[in-house]
Amino acid sequence: MSQNSGNDVMGEFAVAAIDAEALVPRMEMLVAESVTAANMPAFLKRVDDFYVDVYELLAGLTRVKDEDTSDKDARDAYLDFVGLVMPDMARLGDELNRKLLGVAGYEPPPDLAMAWSALRDDVELFRTENLPLAAEAEALEQRYRVLAGGLVVELDDEVLTWGQAQAKLEVPDRALRERAYRAMVMARTELFTGLDELFSRLMGVRNEMARNADLPNYRAMAWLTMRRRDYTPEDALRLHDAVEHEVVPRLRELIARRAKRLGVDRLRPWDLFCDVRGREPLKPFETVEELEEGLSRMFAALDPELGAAYELLRNGWMDLEPRPNKVPELGYQNYFPRSRRPYVYWSAVGTDDDLLTLRHEAGHAFHAVLTQNSWPYLWHLSRSGVMNELASQAMEFLTLPYLTREKGGFYNEEDARRSQSELMLRALGVLVRTSMVDAIEHFVYTHPSENGPSIAEIDAEWLRLTERFDLGVDYAGFEGWLAKGWQAIHVYLFPFYSIEYAIAYLGALQVWDNARDDAPQASAAYKAALSLGGTKPPTELYATAGVSFKFDEATIAHLVALALQAYGD
Ligand SMILES: [Zn+2]
Repeated sequence: MSQNSGNDVMGEFAVAAIDAEALVPRMEMLVAESVTAANMPAFLKRVDDFYVDVYELLAGLTRVKDEDTSDKDARDAYLDFVGLVMPDMARLGDELNRKLLGVAGYEPPPDLAMAWSALRDDVELFRTENLPLAAEAEALEQRYRVLAGGLVVELDDEVLTWGQAQAKLEVPDRALRERAYRAMVMARTELFTGLDELFSRLMGVRNEMARNADLPNYRAMAWLTMRRRDYTPEDALRLHDAVEHEVVPRLRELIARRAKRLGVDRLRPWDLFCDVRGREPLKPFETVEELEEGLSRMFAALDPELGAAYELLRNGWMDLEPRPNKVPELGYQNYFPRSRRPYVYWSAVGTDDDLLTLRHEAGHAFHAVLTQNSWPYLWHLSRSGVMNELASQAMEFLTLPYLTREKGGFYNEEDARRSQSELMLRALGVLVRTSMVDAIEHFVYTHPSENGPSIAEIDAEWLRLTERFDLGVDYAGFEGWLAKGWQAIHVYLFPFYSIEYAIAYLGALQVWDNARDDAPQASAAYKAALSLGGTKPPTELYATAGVSFKFDEATIAHLVALALQAYGD
């Protein structure tokens, strides 16, 4: 990748100051340095400094390509970096890891113990032959972003983004909801074949990487790369069962009541998101500016330290405007370690869901900021999905008392209650949905045949899952569409990650329950857990946050009951 294209794309970011072409030589120098236990602290500082530049650059390249998926230069700059520079850096990174682990007489301080065991895993997993495969997987994942990013929905002579179409599913006019749903199905159906092919290739690459690493399957590899030591694949399977037994029946009852209130025999897929009393959808804000300012008031009211952390996102560190050629459904927080700034990506169209997503992503941002305020190195940042999602999902709940205008938020009392109900329903829905997505991934990546299941087998398995987790919605006439429900963004971009949302929602519901007893104490515990970053295992981080890391049937039954009570149905 030429320095010139890097500069052009980066524009105003701090990233422009980073010499991409110097990264590999810099890394070679680090690998060649002679290191002893005595000069290790100074060496660690230099290694960290190097990785700060790498992650800053990667965050910048990612940001620019995602802000406009049609920008070929930005995409090429990213892919050049990932395809041409990263494999060299990964190879050198392995040498550097071995060097760090092999310094005679050096014991890392306790706060780096977790990072050091992650280094050991990385060394264990490293295979030169996986470098080109990792680059290929990245390119395929990028292809998903482009395919999904080009998706537009044509509804009543209007061209809508996915998010704008989704918002129509909340309107009281049932005929309009149905048209919107059908238009969304039609748009997405055009992608089925392309997404099938893409997934077959991704699955093949992932399986091959696991074989190269001498692991029984890609699931074992995912467990290692995601640093999951606190729960096993079997625990995840038990969680699916618990959700099936404790959440699905409650949601089925709720759906049946909903059908009755809407005066329909059976709920159709376009009846899920509208208000049962026929009220217009919640409309917390009109412009992205209003959203940013309202959140600023809410976080300041919740906690001054979190309020200050939120301000770091403002003035150019959030891309929230909906535009064609942004990736629909994609929302994320990324941290720019050189700039010491979090960054949030989302397409906000004015819905309650947008407000929720921003509270979620802000929680991730708080996690990065609080950790970096407490610890010197990138190695201290959390690498645990269940902790990262507790940071974000607990923030969805901790902000509930500030939704009303008089507390700084967006709503009157009645609408704030509606928003709270929607969050409870969403949390329960996520438990079901992520269990299904996780279950299909277990199926796909532990399949006995070397190349994994065929697409037809995946479709069939997904249909079995829709029966197992059936909430009583009538999908008659949409069977073909239903079979492709596994084509979710996480299946392509973040394999095996989904279940972390389920586990974290169980933690977040507990944080919320604690906050109802003692809000300042719950916030303090939340901040303490976030400030620990990745220096402790998730079970200890959960304990610091004042919650238990449990997902057995009894725990789930208790939390579901609390959520339904707050749902107020
Ligand atoms: Zn998240």
